[in-house]
Amino acid sequence: MTSSALNPASPMVVDTMELGRSAGATMQVAREVGAPEALGLDVFKVPESSPLSIDLTLTAVSEGVLANGEVEASAEGECARCLAPIEDTLRVQVQELYAYEGSATEETTDADEILRLQGDLLDLEPAVRDALVLAMPVTPLCRPDCPGLCAECGVPWDELPDDHRHETVDPRWAALDKLRIVDADGDDGRK
Ligand SMILES: [Zn+2]
Ligand SMILES: [Zn+2]
Repeated sequence: MTSSALNPASPMVVDTMELGRSAGATMQVAREVGAPEALGLDVFKVPESSPLSIDLTLTAVSEGVLANGEVEASAEGECARCLAPIEDTLRVQVQELYAYEGSATEETTDADEILRLQGDLLDLEPAVRDALVLAMPVTPLCRPDCPGLCAECGVPWDELPDDHRHETVDPRWAALDKLRIVDADGDDGRK
């Protein structure tokens, strides 16, 4: 085992001794803890030390302990279309098996494929982190139909009047006009 010893005083570590390794025994874990570090990416993340609400049932099974339940966290990020700040509540399901040391499951599985107990101690952090990160949007949006920014002036469409438009002298010249603007800047954002 390569991981360092778990600290029983850590808010994310649970002592499962009361389960007594008797299959079918259950215990409830309800905790409010601060995120040990930022989870996710800057575009959308649960910030470090923001509150995580953990509500799990631990069930002893023959090979280990099954953690099953829900985690709630506050996430923040930036809309991918209009760059407005986003605040959102993530409510995700957790279901993870922690294998007993020396169990067949532990011995036949690579170290990084399964979570394991250390003695009676179990670390909730990897299960909670995985569940939250998996639930995060790849393209966060302030709302599903966010219209984004006007490509000409960069102002959010939400702040512009319905008839907002940029003067184009004549449709036939619009294309040429664009080329001229790109030329003058020397840079249209593309190479
Ligand atoms: Zn938006
Ligand atoms: Zn505009």
